[in-house]
Amino acid sequence: MSLDAKIPQGPLAEKWSKHKFNLKLVNPANKRKYDLIVVGTGLAGASAAASLAELGYNVKAFCFQDSPRRAHSIAAQGGINAAKNYQNDGDSVYRLFYDTIKGGDYRAREANVYRLAEVSVNIIDQCVAQGVPFAREYGGLLDNRSFGGSQVSRTFYARGQTGQQLLLGAYSALNRQIHKGKVKMYTRTELLDIVTIDGHAKGIVTRNLVNGQIETHSGHAVLLCTGGYGNVFYLSTNAIGSNVTAAWRAHKRGAFFANPCYTQIHPTCIPVTGDHQSKLTLMSESLRNDGRVWAPKTQETAEKLRTKQLSAADVKEEDRDYFLERKYPSFGNLVPRDVASRNAKEMVDDGRGVGGSGIAVFLDFADAIKRLGKETVSAKYGNLFDMYYQITNEDPYTQPMRIYPAVHYTMGGLWVDYNLSTNVPGLYALGECNFSDHGANRLGASALMQGLADGYFVIPYTIGDYLASIGPKPVDTNHPAFEKTRKDVTDRIEKLLALKGTKTVNEYHRELGHIMWEYCGMARTAEGLTKAKGLISALRADFWKNALVVGANDEVNNSLERAGRVADFLELGELMVDDALMRNESCGGHFRLESQTDEGEALRNDEVFSFVGAWQYKGDNQPEELHKEALNFEFVHPSQRSYK
Ligand SMILES: Cc1cc2nc3c(=O)[nH]c(=O)nc-3n(C[C@H](O)[C@H](O)[C@H](O)COP(=O)(O)OP(=O)(O)OC[C@H]3O[C@@H](n4cnc5c(N)ncnc54)[C@H](O)[C@@H]3O)c2cc1C
Repeated sequence: MSLDAKIPQGPLAEKWSKHKFNLKLVNPANKRKYDLIVVGTGLAGASAAASLAELGYNVKAFCFQDSPRRAHSIAAQGGINAAKNYQNDGDSVYRLFYDTIKGGDYRAREANVYRLAEVSVNIIDQCVAQGVPFAREYGGLLDNRSFGGSQVSRTFYARGQTGQQLLLGAYSALNRQIHKGKVKMYTRTELLDIVTIDGHAKGIVTRNLVNGQIETHSGHAVLLCTGGYGNVFYLSTNAIGSNVTAAWRAHKRGAFFANPCYTQIHPTCIPVTGDHQSKLTLMSESLRNDGRVWAPKTQETAEKLRTKQLSAADVKEEDRDYFLERKYPSFGNLVPRDVASRNAKEMVDDGRGVGGSGIAVFLDFADAIKRLGKETVSAKYGNLFDMYYQITNEDPYTQPMRIYPAVHYTMGGLWVDYNLSTNVPGLYALGECNFSDHGANRLGASALMQGLADGYFVIPYTIGDYLASIGPKPVDTNHPAFEKTRKDVTDRIEKLLALKGTKTVNEYHRELGHIMWEYCGMARTAEGLTKAKGLISALRADFWKNALVVGANDEVNNSLERAGRVADFLELGELMVDDALMRNESCGGHFRLESQTDEGEALRNDEVFSFVGAWQYKGDNQPEELHKEALNFEFVHPSQRSYK
């Protein structure tokens, strides 16, 4: 099957404008005849729901938290990119496009990425108009800082709380529409399945997380804005509740899952301290603007640091290895995340790791404090420093932070075309839930940009084309597909509740996470991946025999909720391993040890692997089928990435 990405013809810079003109419109008086379902109220979902309601559509919005503003997007710290070029430092739409394509190791679609860069400038205007308090310079202009993978400053920020402030903006816009009656908001409600009729998405089945009620909802289209699946690794920087269930259930109803193995491992997280942990904490990439990453030059010094015979401040300049500055003089500490992560791992593998466990490197602010003063550093990063102190009881103003890579973001997701439509007509995927714009490695501060681009500026145009083509005829909720899907959901809940084994769902999740991190994490081999496949498959079989799920359906039941999500992670984990095994090349966040340059960098194989790998579900316990969408580079020539 060939996948049609529906990329418009013509010059790169004109594609989106021409496409918008060519898309069918729904006339204003007809919009109120359409019902749209938006699942998720993070940046992608809240912006989409608010914009579509503002246009006049009737929207039903869903989230599993008790308020839309508690979506995981609120955790985003560092910033949001936009090609405004306020700094006059050489930025442009084309440069943001180029940096993103290169940063993604030439595994993203040119047309999508160009559009993202193009609308980035509108996002900032929209958010400022909503009152988002971006940091400003003395003269009043919005301030910018740098993020990895670029040599310009284009990241807009609100201290270390950019996600929270952006979400408050989108949430206000959403609330305005809730108040006007154009959005009906369902909180504490979890999507458990998608209803399709004649191959088109026409509704969803949900569970009320307070009283267990199973409900069906119909709509002319369904938008999944349900975030990423990094928690398949158990430990990640994602919110504990983030999960793959919505995307996975859509996948099992026919939506292709693209590039599942592309995982972003973020270099600056607080290192793991032990098995008791259920979550990891990110130290924002913005810290690499001023913090210098280093490890001791010798294993002997590292050992002395680990056993506290030496403190970091005692290590002389000449005994330190600022390895990113040494290896990548042009980008220094601001190399992209995949590169920084792999280099930190190299230090640890070489016996030069620090901290009690030896699994960490330093992020040091001593020079920045000397240069700028403590007050300035605190004004920029104060809340991040406080967070670090509260978690580690170590003061980053007087000693370097200990950092190590951790799972942070998933570039893979539901396959979508240029219109953000999955291959199931009427089913759309936005934000981190789709695979669209970041290739094999996302650049910092680009997820917020993509989520808001999708919600505010892309879907309001593209969905009209589909809606105009199907017409406003109401969806027939008496169609047997609704009852059938509802029954599938209740059967599955009963099956989960019947699990009365001895092992908690959390234990399965943690074991899965260990397997994924060990064999499908920062470095992968065919041998390790093959082993992982067997281990996950056995773990999944054991789950359905020996897991313990307590309580009943008609109550608040975290055990049941988690069981459903972990069961999906167990299936997704296998697909990720299949995908990683199939992709016998290194690219971005997918590093196959068999495929590296002499200098240890990711070595792509463009001749064979310049495609998006989209997987089709073929039934329980059946191998999935791979479909390939070829990536054609008309404007940028793929080359070996270099940040030297
Ligand atoms: C600690 C941290 C810091 C980050 N900092 C930055 C940054 O500085 N800049 C940047 O660009 N990116 C950053 N990111 C990445 C960025 O935050 C996310 O990629 C982005 O916020 C995802 O937004 P989203 O709208 O796609 O999904 P989310 O914000 O994850 O929202 C998902 C929504 O879907 C709902 N949902 C999910 N499943 C279901 C279901 N089955 N039923 C009903 N509802 C469901 C949830 O309730 C929620 O409302 C950071 C990520 C982390 C983890």
